[in-house]
Amino acid sequence: MFKKILIANRGEIALRVIVACRELGIKTVAVYSEADENSLHVRFADEDVCIGPPRSTDSYLSVPAIISAAEITGADAIHPGYGFLSESAYLAEVCEACHIRFIGPDPSVIKLMGDKARARRAMKKAGLPMLPGSEGIIESEEKALKIAKDIGYPVIIKAVAGGGGRGMRIVRTAADLGHAFRTAQREAEAAFGVGDVYVEKYLENPRHIEFQVLGDHHGNVVHLGERECSIQRRHQKLVEESPSPALTEKIRRKMGSLVVDAARAVQYTNAGTFEFLMDPEGKFYFMEANTRLQVEHPVTEWVTGLDIVKEQIRIAAGERLSFRQSEVTFTGHSIECRINAEDPETFAPSPGIIHAFSVPGGPGVRVDTFAHSECTVSPYYDSMIAKIIVHGRDRQEAIARMRRTLEMTVVDGIKTNVPMHLKILAEADFHAGRLSTAFMDRFAAKPKAGRLAETA
Ligand code: ADP
Repeated sequence: MFKKILIANRGEIALRVIVACRELGIKTVAVYSEADENSLHVRFADEDVCIGPPRSTDSYLSVPAIISAAEITGADAIHPGYGFLSESAYLAEVCEACHIRFIGPDPSVIKLMGDKARARRAMKKAGLPMLPGSEGIIESEEKALKIAKDIGYPVIIKAVAGGGGRGMRIVRTAADLGHAFRTAQREAEAAFGVGDVYVEKYLENPRHIEFQVLGDHHGNVVHLGERECSIQRRHQKLVEESPSPALTEKIRRKMGSLVVDAARAVQYTNAGTFEFLMDPEGKFYFMEANTRLQVEHPVTEWVTGLDIVKEQIRIAAGERLSFRQSEVTFTGHSIECRINAEDPETFAPSPGIIHAFSVPGGPGVRVDTFAHSECTVSPYYDSMIAKIIVHGRDRQEAIARMRRTLEMTVVDGIKTNVPMHLKILAEADFHAGRLSTAFMDRFAAKPKAGRLAETA
């Protein structure tokens, strides 16, 4: 087993990894930017190294700074968390060259899944159902027009290097395609440094359903069931739950085994998530695979009773999975709300100092957060300040538990989306489990004063 793990991340996920390491008796190294000197992940790690100024390109995204920190402290493994360098095949390769274990899949698998067009081809070959679309990258508008005509509008143009809901353009008519194609390429180039795009059929009102897998280095792969993440704003998840109210045991078993076979086909190791869209008729379509720990992993941990971060560490250290698929069981229902520092009406970020922070405990409540009273929410990073996760015997109990938890949550000093979450939980459609990625359209952002609303 590892003696010391460096955590190449910040915020709640850095703390989450520290928690797992403490339980496993492994020492930890925190890295931090100048903006995070007083953060809890620095306080609770055994050692810490400042890796640069606040801008993440100069700190949390700097491979040389992170590798140097690992070498100086003698860390034998790096956990990348999510975001930042978590899906960087380059970091994984440099780790390999420096004899530091990267806690994640092999660099070749990260590369494959990081190119969504290549991933689509590989997963189609491995037997996963696909949306109609281009076989690979689309170089010209003419080709895009032809494919769109073949598969029928609406279509979506997506960046092969896309992530975080960016680099996507929905196209409803041929007349709009040229402009959307050029904008998507330009945006992808600016955001990811790679302008390549592909085209697939756009589904109206789908559900987002993803499967969690774990694979060890001895050929064992299991799935831990699904998460439903249909409540999204601008393709960014807001509320996640497990199990999905739309799945039967039979479908779970069928989809789970398809995913396990696909993961095995690419020799997938460590934790991964296979994301699908499900259409209103219940058909599944593969969208992408994320080669890292996901923000929403706690809902799976709660219904399965497993600790995914500890499993990641054990797998990376070469241990065999200690359980078989038949030993994975699902109990009750779990829901997560992402608490963001933002204005609940306009959705504008709301960084600043939190003067008072309190989330009630009680049965079935878990809070993963870096926030505390008198802490600073930095404008340099993601606006998520906490994840509130609840578990109940069934979905109704979980919803009631989440509501009372949010009602008793105190965050003074900055604005948060807690009121938005309470509105979501109050919707009849949410209670009935009638979810889709269009759910949030009913809460369109209020236009800023002085600007005319675009639609009446
Ligand atoms: P990212 O990697 O940026 O998260 P994804 O490919 O996972 O991008 O897509 C994110 C979200 O975008 C999905 O959950 C869904 O809401 C929407 N989306 C993506 N592709 C389609 C599609 N073909 N039809 C409808 N919605 C889509």
